[in-house]
Amino acid sequence: MPLVVAIDGPAGSGKSSVSKAVAERLGFGYLDTGAGYRAFALHAINNPDIPLEELLKSFDYEISLDPQKAQVLVGGEDVTSEIRTQEVASRVSEFARKPRVRTLQHQDARSRVALCGLDGVVSEGRDLTTVVFVDAGVRILLTASEEVRLQRRSAEKTESTENLKARDASDSKVVEFMAPAEGVKLIDTSHLSFEESVEAVIAEIERSRA
Ligand code: C5P
Repeated sequence: MPLVVAIDGPAGSGKSSVSKAVAERLGFGYLDTGAGYRAFALHAINNPDIPLEELLKSFDYEISLDPQKAQVLVGGEDVTSEIRTQEVASRVSEFARKPRVRTLQHQDARSRVALCGLDGVVSEGRDLTTVVFVDAGVRILLTASEEVRLQRRSAEKTESTENLKARDASDSKVVEFMAPAEGVKLIDTSHLSFEESVEAVIAEIERSRA
């Protein structure tokens, strides 16, 4: 098994950009589990009349573990940008709440990591430290104050403040990712630069390997 670095945190905590940079620096794979939920939401949005069971059966997707690409395909089509639209951001929690969707995503994340053939994988999401990779070599909760998270997202212009708050509130009903579970290292990036955040995660990985 590769070394699994499991990173959870709320939207806007910086976990995607930090996780990608850490993976690149260490030559590890990068698994964005949120992209899997977004891909399913897009599949459901594009097929509004199909029941959930059928959607699950017909859901054929791929996620590249290359941190420089992080490409996502649904039915062979590149949807890497499409899964970042406001429409997907506003509907993704609704689908992520469904137990069958979560079970599929959990199995998928585990098998992608187990079969990747790499030395390590940095995986990020909401329930990796608590559900998907509870035995991960490194478990981190990356967070930031709400003010800082909202500032970062508005600078990115990818999601409205209202949607980000609603998504965190909705997601928090399903999994706990605002406070660290036992044995999970809390890294608060509110007062850290991007580079300092990357360094803090790498230091934690080095500690676990020492
Ligand atoms: O990480 P990102 O913001 O792209 O995640 C999109 C959505 O996918 C979240 O708002 C949440 O509903 C869902 N998600 C989840 N569990 C994960 C990762 C993402 O429920 N591990």
